[in-house]
Amino acid sequence: MPTRQNPQVDASSAAPEKSVDGQLPYPDGVGHRVIWSYTIPFILFHAAIPLAFIPWFFSWSGLLLLPIAHFFFDWIGIGLCYHRTLTHRGLLLPKWLERIFVVFGLCNLMDSPARWVAIHRKHHQHADEQPDPHSPHVTLWWGHMGWLIQENQSMSNIDFYHKYAPDVLRDPFYFVIEKYKLWIFVYLAQAVILTTIGFLFGWWWTGQYSGGIQLGASWLLWGVVLRTLFSWHATFAVNSITHMWGYRNYETRDDSTNHWLVAMLTGGEGWHNNHHAYPVSAAHGHRWWELDPTYWNIQILKFFGLAKEVKVHEMDDEH
Ligand SMILES: [Zn+2]
Ligand SMILES: [Zn+2]
Repeated sequence: MPTRQNPQVDASSAAPEKSVDGQLPYPDGVGHRVIWSYTIPFILFHAAIPLAFIPWFFSWSGLLLLPIAHFFFDWIGIGLCYHRTLTHRGLLLPKWLERIFVVFGLCNLMDSPARWVAIHRKHHQHADEQPDPHSPHVTLWWGHMGWLIQENQSMSNIDFYHKYAPDVLRDPFYFVIEKYKLWIFVYLAQAVILTTIGFLFGWWWTGQYSGGIQLGASWLLWGVVLRTLFSWHATFAVNSITHMWGYRNYETRDDSTNHWLVAMLTGGEGWHNNHHAYPVSAAHGHRWWELDPTYWNIQILKFFGLAKEVKVHEMDDEH
């Protein structure tokens, strides 16, 4: 748990600037209360990591399931849909496809689309200033995960959603997901489905019930639990690492950076300085070698007429 001084400050003295040593105060509204609904899954999922070293849980199909599911759920669901489509409107998808991709996004246990969008838009509006929900210039831990497990009252009222994500909540499907917390059930459903398929496949392959149990457990561990952890830390690294380390193509007013490792884990989201400079652009890689697989996927969708109004900024040749 992060330790810190009580951030209650007189509004008149609340300055968004960093202190002399470059550290940022906690956002207004941050209290001491722990958000257990986030903290408990974080603890349980991390506690499962040692199981990865037990041979009984290992299978090559389970291992392969991790990157495949990460591609669909994180690269498409979060990067392409939550981020580039819903948050920044860098492209337009047919409604049915957008909703399928949102369901993919829900399979990461990474919040509902409305909440994700609202938090991220606030981040862009105040990046690396005090109201930024997750600047690593508070502490690296805060920017990575701390902000998720400690209450922030400025993001827990209805006004926050109305201000930052009214367009998302106007969609009845996303509204229902929000209102009834359906994202929990979608996440559980994909876990049950993948585990069951693993079980049936293992049973059929080995001809033994125990073989089914073993492969089902393997798919649950590698394709669901470890894959979710991978997706969390890759996405959280965009908030933490790419506001701390890396290089910059643009002199933005925040401290965003480009980082190749974060970009490769997230399908291009780690070209984050480019993204802060041109948030609406559906392409995050601006130099030819800044590989941006999510943009390639957008181009494929565009080729088939499934992505329209794709907005792109590319760097001038002289850079
Ligand atoms: Zn950022
Ligand atoms: Zn963004």
